[in-house]
Amino acid sequence: MERYYQEEIECAPYEKIREIQSEKLVKQVKHVWDNVPYYRKKMEEKGVTPDDIKSVDDLKKLPFLSKADLRDAYPYGLLGMPLKDCVRIHSTSGTTGKRVVAYYTQHDIDLWEDCCARALTAAGATNEDVVQVAYGYGLFTGGAGLHGGSHKVGSLTIPISSGNTDRQIMFAMDLSATILCCTPSYAAYLGERMKELGYGPEDIPLKAGIFGAEAWSEEMRKDIEKTLGIKAFDIYGLTELSGPGVAFECSAQSGMHINEDHFIAEIIDPDTEEVLPEGSVGELVFTAVDKEAFPMIRYRTKDICKLTREKCSCGRTHIKMAKPMGRSDDMLIIRGVNVFPSQIETVLMNNGYAANYQIIVDRVNNTDTFDVQVEMTPEMFTDNIGEIEARQRKLSDDLKAMLGIKAKVSLLAPKSIARSEGKAVRVIDKRKI
Ligand SMILES: [Zn+2]
Repeated sequence: MERYYQEEIECAPYEKIREIQSEKLVKQVKHVWDNVPYYRKKMEEKGVTPDDIKSVDDLKKLPFLSKADLRDAYPYGLLGMPLKDCVRIHSTSGTTGKRVVAYYTQHDIDLWEDCCARALTAAGATNEDVVQVAYGYGLFTGGAGLHGGSHKVGSLTIPISSGNTDRQIMFAMDLSATILCCTPSYAAYLGERMKELGYGPEDIPLKAGIFGAEAWSEEMRKDIEKTLGIKAFDIYGLTELSGPGVAFECSAQSGMHINEDHFIAEIIDPDTEEVLPEGSVGELVFTAVDKEAFPMIRYRTKDICKLTREKCSCGRTHIKMAKPMGRSDDMLIIRGVNVFPSQIETVLMNNGYAANYQIIVDRVNNTDTFDVQVEMTPEMFTDNIGEIEARQRKLSDDLKAMLGIKAKVSLLAPKSIARSEGKAVRVIDKRKI
């Protein structure tokens, strides 16, 4: 039986959701106009005032916010409430440039935790469950979000944070953890370590896991489900928008329901910024309609994916987003087709290769050339030419099926692709040089 945390809103008819969104959007735009001079200036430059925004249909009139705006406005420029009304900050890991610092009022924390509670409930959590939160705690939103959600559901929460893998396994066993929350790569690692210690899925009571904060493939999901003996659910979120729980997977495990009473999603063409019709692949843009302290309007996530409002077997009515295919920064257009390194990686993994590959794109006689060089793993290394050619053909066929265009695949000896600072350079686009 499907369980919901807030059934009335999670299963509300589409018209009702739009009504809520319109009402909240109108209020939010006034709030931002009055309290966030940075965004007000952007609106003025575009010639838009709060009077122009009467419903969700007017959303497209509003200016976008990007990561660059967040950097410009650091640290207080996008703050929508006096600091005395804020109760917490969280921050991104900030791999490049300034970190993003996001502010929360108690109201903002509540709505965020509600979103995480919806995700946990969709994964089967009740007040009889034990939720092991193995996401990092601290500035990172992963630990805090699922922790708060678990409290709301009334589950017994183990705030173990990340790391110390043997202790994680001991706690999961001794305290009978039923739901695990962490990054998918950490879940896979936990599974590996369990095997090493001689434990199988029957030795731990885990029944489900909520895994997010990094990209993972369907194959990885199947692996984790098998090793840990659980159902693995995806979750999506960004610190800029609150944290995990902006969207979450339900029992259908086919895309994530966006919490539309709090976040309005749009898909745009990343180059022209034009809003695309439902079902198109493009950049995901979010408007947080009721966050007070950090009220993002039309925030460009750079995640490329598509949305669908097809009826879902779980009974929820909120629109679903597919797992992001990649970042708009990573997207290559080869012979007019969108290609993401992550898609190529999936094909390689499916065929037992590691993610050591290089994509080389060039233009010869006005036609794009598309070469994929892949290292064989030490286990599969061979110098039998016939064998290598057969494997290259197989990869080329699988890539064609995934991408819709043909690539020239070359298999290389292990460790033949140069690494810089440990990481292989994935894409060499000679058309730009
Ligand atoms: Zn569903």
